[in-house]
Amino acid sequence: RLPRGPIEVRFDDVTFAYPAGPPVLHGISLDIAAGTRVAVVGETGSGKSTVAKLLTRLMDPTEGRVLLDGIDLRDVRTRALRRSVVLVPQEGFLFDDTLAANVRYGRTDASDADIAAAAVEIGLGDWLDALPRGVHTLVGQRGESLSAGERQLVALLRAQLADPDLLVLDEATSAVDPALEMRIGRALERLMSGRTSVTIAHRLSTAEAADEVVVVDRGRIVQRGPHDVL
Ligand code: ATP
Ligand code: MG
Repeated sequence: RLPRGPIEVRFDDVTFAYPAGPPVLHGISLDIAAGTRVAVVGETGSGKSTVAKLLTRLMDPTEGRVLLDGIDLRDVRTRALRRSVVLVPQEGFLFDDTLAANVRYGRTDASDADIAAAAVEIGLGDWLDALPRGVHTLVGQRGESLSAGERQLVALLRAQLADPDLLVLDEATSAVDPALEMRIGRALERLMSGRTSVTIAHRLSTAEAADEVVVVDRGRIVQRGPHDVL
Protein backbone atom coordinates (compact mmCIF):
# COMPACT_ATOMS: atom_id res chain seq x y z
CA ARG A 1 0.00 0.00 0.00
CA LEU A 2 1.26 3.45 -0.91
CA PRO A 3 0.12 6.60 0.89
CA ARG A 4 -1.55 9.27 -1.28
CA GLY A 5 0.33 12.43 -2.20
CA PRO A 6 3.45 13.06 -4.30
CA ILE A 7 5.76 10.05 -4.28
CA GLU A 8 9.49 9.90 -3.57
CA VAL A 9 11.35 7.76 -6.09
CA ARG A 10 14.62 5.91 -5.65
CA PHE A 11 16.68 3.79 -8.01
CA ASP A 12 19.09 1.82 -5.89
CA ASP A 13 21.99 0.45 -7.97
CA VAL A 14 19.69 -0.81 -10.73
CA THR A 15 21.05 -3.02 -13.48
CA PHE A 16 18.71 -4.27 -16.18
CA ALA A 17 19.06 -6.65 -19.10
CA TYR A 18 16.26 -7.67 -21.45
CA PRO A 19 15.86 -11.47 -21.65
CA ALA A 20 18.94 -13.08 -23.20
CA GLY A 21 20.45 -9.64 -23.90
CA PRO A 22 23.36 -7.69 -22.42
CA PRO A 23 22.67 -5.17 -19.63
CA VAL A 24 21.22 -1.93 -20.97
CA LEU A 25 21.23 -0.15 -17.58
CA HIS A 26 24.36 -0.38 -15.44
CA GLY A 27 24.09 0.34 -11.71
CA ILE A 28 21.73 3.33 -11.91
CA SER A 29 21.20 5.18 -8.62
CA LEU A 30 18.86 8.14 -8.49
CA ASP A 31 16.80 9.93 -5.85
CA ILE A 32 13.82 12.03 -6.79
CA ALA A 33 12.24 14.04 -4.00
CA ALA A 34 8.46 13.96 -3.66
CA GLY A 35 6.76 16.59 -5.79
CA THR A 36 9.72 17.38 -8.02
CA ARG A 37 9.99 17.23 -11.79
CA VAL A 38 12.81 15.35 -13.40
CA ALA A 39 13.58 15.35 -17.11
CA VAL A 40 15.55 12.41 -18.50
CA VAL A 41 17.51 13.15 -21.65
CA GLY A 42 19.95 11.11 -23.72
CA GLU A 43 20.65 9.70 -27.14
CA THR A 44 18.52 7.08 -28.81
CA GLY A 45 19.09 3.65 -27.27
CA SER A 46 20.63 5.10 -24.09
CA GLY A 47 18.02 3.45 -21.84
CA LYS A 48 15.48 6.22 -21.17
CA SER A 49 12.36 4.21 -21.95
CA THR A 50 13.78 1.29 -19.99
CA VAL A 51 13.92 3.57 -16.92
CA ALA A 52 10.27 4.52 -17.53
CA LYS A 53 9.25 0.86 -17.86
CA LEU A 54 10.98 -0.06 -14.60
CA LEU A 55 9.15 2.77 -12.81
CA THR A 56 5.79 1.45 -13.91
CA ARG A 57 6.86 -2.13 -13.24
CA LEU A 58 6.43 -3.37 -16.78
CA MET A 59 9.45 -5.40 -15.69
CA ASP A 60 11.69 -5.78 -12.63
CA PRO A 61 15.38 -4.87 -12.30
CA THR A 62 17.84 -7.68 -12.96
CA GLU A 63 19.82 -6.37 -9.98
CA GLY A 64 19.08 -3.60 -7.49
CA ARG A 65 15.77 -2.07 -6.48
CA VAL A 66 13.28 0.57 -7.49
CA LEU A 67 11.63 2.13 -4.43
CA LEU A 68 8.55 4.32 -4.16
CA ASP A 69 8.29 6.09 -0.82
CA GLY A 70 10.87 3.60 0.43
CA ILE A 71 8.84 0.55 -0.63
CA ASP A 72 10.35 -1.91 -3.10
CA LEU A 73 8.12 -1.90 -6.19
CA ARG A 74 8.06 -5.69 -6.05
CA ASP A 75 6.17 -5.38 -2.75
CA VAL A 76 3.53 -2.98 -4.06
CA ARG A 77 0.27 -4.57 -5.10
CA THR A 78 -0.62 -4.16 -8.75
CA ARG A 79 -3.85 -2.34 -7.93
CA ALA A 80 -2.09 0.15 -5.66
CA LEU A 81 0.55 0.69 -8.32
CA ARG A 82 -2.05 1.35 -11.03
CA ARG A 83 -3.72 3.84 -8.73
CA SER A 84 -0.53 5.73 -7.93
CA VAL A 85 1.65 5.57 -11.02
CA VAL A 86 0.64 6.39 -14.57
CA LEU A 87 2.77 6.08 -17.69
CA VAL A 88 1.94 8.33 -20.63
CA PRO A 89 3.64 6.51 -23.49
CA GLN A 90 5.31 8.14 -26.48
CA GLU A 91 2.40 7.22 -28.75
CA GLY A 92 -0.77 7.19 -26.66
CA PHE A 93 -2.42 3.80 -27.17
CA LEU A 94 -5.93 4.61 -28.32
CA PHE A 95 -8.50 2.02 -29.28
CA ASP A 96 -11.45 2.15 -31.67
CA ASP A 97 -14.14 3.54 -29.37
CA THR A 98 -15.39 6.91 -28.12
CA LEU A 99 -13.11 9.55 -26.70
CA ALA A 100 -14.79 8.98 -23.31
CA ALA A 101 -13.97 5.25 -23.33
CA ASN A 102 -10.35 6.05 -24.22
CA VAL A 103 -10.05 8.66 -21.49
CA ARG A 104 -11.70 6.43 -18.87
CA TYR A 105 -9.49 3.45 -19.59
CA GLY A 106 -9.12 1.79 -16.15
CA ARG A 107 -11.39 4.29 -14.42
CA THR A 108 -14.69 2.76 -15.49
CA ASP A 109 -16.43 4.53 -12.60
CA ALA A 110 -15.82 7.99 -14.09
CA SER A 111 -18.87 9.79 -15.53
CA ASP A 112 -18.90 12.03 -18.59
CA ALA A 113 -19.09 14.96 -16.16
CA ASP A 114 -15.90 13.73 -14.44
CA ILE A 115 -14.18 13.67 -17.82
CA ALA A 116 -15.39 17.19 -18.62
CA ALA A 117 -14.14 18.37 -15.21
CA ALA A 118 -10.72 16.76 -15.79
CA ALA A 119 -10.55 18.52 -19.16
CA VAL A 120 -11.26 21.89 -17.54
CA GLU A 121 -8.59 21.23 -14.89
CA ILE A 122 -5.88 20.97 -17.54
CA GLY A 123 -7.26 23.69 -19.79
CA LEU A 124 -8.87 21.43 -22.39
CA GLY A 125 -12.49 22.33 -21.68
CA ASP A 126 -12.93 24.45 -24.80
CA TRP A 127 -11.17 21.87 -26.97
CA LEU A 128 -13.58 19.20 -25.77
CA ASP A 129 -16.59 21.52 -26.23
CA ALA A 130 -15.51 22.31 -29.79
CA LEU A 131 -15.61 18.64 -30.87
CA PRO A 132 -18.97 18.14 -32.66
CA ARG A 133 -19.73 15.03 -30.64
CA GLY A 134 -17.75 15.96 -27.53
CA VAL A 135 -16.82 12.96 -25.38
CA HIS A 136 -18.87 10.75 -27.75
CA THR A 137 -16.47 11.44 -30.63
CA LEU A 138 -15.27 8.20 -32.19
CA VAL A 139 -11.48 8.18 -32.34
CA GLY A 140 -11.07 5.42 -34.95
CA GLN A 141 -8.56 2.59 -35.03
CA ARG A 142 -5.48 3.58 -33.04
CA GLY A 143 -7.07 7.02 -32.81
CA GLU A 144 -6.49 7.75 -36.49
CA SER A 145 -9.60 9.96 -36.75
CA LEU A 146 -7.77 12.44 -34.53
CA SER A 147 -4.63 14.40 -35.38
CA ALA A 148 -1.33 13.39 -33.73
CA GLY A 149 -1.60 16.38 -31.41
CA GLU A 150 -5.18 15.55 -30.45
CA ARG A 151 -4.13 11.99 -29.64
CA GLN A 152 -1.58 13.50 -27.25
CA LEU A 153 -4.32 15.59 -25.65
CA VAL A 154 -6.42 12.45 -25.12
CA ALA A 155 -3.43 10.75 -23.47
CA LEU A 156 -2.95 13.75 -21.15
CA LEU A 157 -6.66 13.85 -20.33
CA ARG A 158 -6.55 10.14 -19.51
CA ALA A 159 -3.64 10.79 -17.13
CA GLN A 160 -5.44 13.71 -15.47
CA LEU A 161 -8.54 11.59 -14.88
CA ALA A 162 -6.39 8.80 -13.42
CA ASP A 163 -4.98 11.40 -10.99
CA PRO A 164 -1.68 9.62 -10.22
CA ASP A 165 0.87 10.61 -7.55
CA LEU A 166 3.75 9.75 -9.85
CA LEU A 167 3.53 10.64 -13.50
CA VAL A 168 5.92 9.03 -15.97
CA LEU A 169 5.90 10.61 -19.41
CA ASP A 170 7.65 9.44 -22.53
CA GLU A 171 7.21 12.61 -24.52
CA ALA A 172 5.86 12.31 -28.04
CA THR A 173 8.20 13.28 -30.86
CA SER A 174 5.59 13.81 -33.57
CA ALA A 175 5.51 17.36 -34.88
CA VAL A 176 2.37 19.30 -34.08
CA ASP A 177 1.26 22.75 -35.24
CA PRO A 178 2.35 25.62 -32.94
CA ALA A 179 -1.11 26.38 -31.51
CA LEU A 180 -1.66 22.77 -30.50
CA GLU A 181 1.91 22.57 -29.23
CA MET A 182 1.17 25.45 -26.84
CA ARG A 183 -2.03 23.80 -25.72
CA ILE A 184 -0.19 20.55 -25.04
CA GLY A 185 2.46 22.47 -23.10
CA ARG A 186 -0.11 24.15 -20.90
CA ALA A 187 -1.99 20.90 -20.30
CA LEU A 188 1.28 19.19 -19.34
CA GLU A 189 2.13 21.99 -16.96
CA ARG A 190 -1.17 21.60 -15.11
CA LEU A 191 -1.02 17.81 -15.21
CA MET A 192 2.41 17.79 -13.55
CA SER A 193 1.56 20.32 -10.86
CA GLY A 194 1.32 18.76 -7.39
CA ARG A 195 2.79 15.42 -8.51
CA THR A 196 6.19 13.86 -8.82
CA SER A 197 7.02 13.51 -12.49
CA VAL A 198 9.67 11.80 -14.54
CA THR A 199 9.58 12.93 -18.16
CA ILE A 200 11.64 11.54 -20.98
CA ALA A 201 12.14 14.90 -22.59
CA HIS A 202 12.30 15.47 -26.30
CA ARG A 203 11.24 19.10 -26.06
CA LEU A 204 13.81 21.60 -24.86
CA SER A 205 11.02 23.44 -23.02
CA THR A 206 10.35 20.35 -20.89
CA ALA A 207 13.98 20.08 -19.83
CA GLU A 208 14.01 23.82 -19.06
CA ALA A 209 10.93 23.57 -16.85
CA ALA A 210 12.25 20.57 -14.88
CA ASP A 211 13.70 20.92 -11.37
CA GLU A 212 16.45 18.58 -12.42
CA VAL A 213 17.78 17.13 -15.67
CA VAL A 214 19.30 13.65 -15.70
CA VAL A 215 21.52 12.79 -18.64
CA VAL A 216 21.70 9.09 -19.54
CA ASP A 217 24.40 7.70 -21.81
CA ARG A 218 24.69 4.02 -22.71
CA GLY A 219 22.80 2.90 -19.62
CA ARG A 220 24.57 5.15 -17.14
CA ILE A 221 23.71 8.49 -15.55
CA VAL A 222 26.54 10.74 -16.68
CA GLN A 223 25.26 14.10 -15.45
CA ARG A 224 22.50 15.54 -13.35
CA GLY A 225 21.57 18.97 -12.14
CA PRO A 226 19.40 21.99 -12.83
CA HIS A 227 18.97 22.74 -16.52
CA ASP A 228 20.98 25.96 -16.51
CA VAL A 229 24.02 24.31 -14.92
CA LEU A 230 24.30 21.50 -17.49
P1 ATP B 1 14.92 6.20 -27.78
O1 ATP B 1 15.40 7.60 -27.56
O2 ATP B 1 15.22 5.74 -29.17
O3 ATP B 1 13.50 5.99 -27.40
P2 ATP B 1 15.79 4.94 -25.30
O4 ATP B 1 16.80 5.78 -24.61
O5 ATP B 1 14.40 5.03 -24.82
O6 ATP B 1 15.87 5.24 -26.86
P3 ATP B 1 15.57 2.13 -24.64
O7 ATP B 1 14.33 1.85 -25.37
O8 ATP B 1 15.50 2.22 -23.16
O9 ATP B 1 16.32 3.43 -25.21
O10 ATP B 1 16.60 0.99 -25.05
C1 ATP B 1 17.85 0.81 -24.40
C2 ATP B 1 18.52 -0.40 -25.03
O11 ATP B 1 17.74 -1.56 -24.78
C3 ATP B 1 18.71 -0.31 -26.53
O12 ATP B 1 19.95 -0.87 -26.84
C4 ATP B 1 17.59 -1.18 -27.08
O13 ATP B 1 17.98 -1.78 -28.30
C5 ATP B 1 17.41 -2.21 -25.99
N1 ATP B 1 16.00 -2.69 -25.92
C6 ATP B 1 14.92 -1.91 -25.75
N2 ATP B 1 13.80 -2.65 -25.67
C7 ATP B 1 14.18 -3.94 -25.82
C8 ATP B 1 13.50 -5.20 -25.85
N3 ATP B 1 12.18 -5.26 -25.68
N4 ATP B 1 14.24 -6.31 -26.00
C9 ATP B 1 15.58 -6.25 -26.15
N5 ATP B 1 16.28 -5.11 -26.14
C10 ATP B 1 15.61 -3.96 -25.98
MG1 MG C 1 12.58 5.51 -25.77
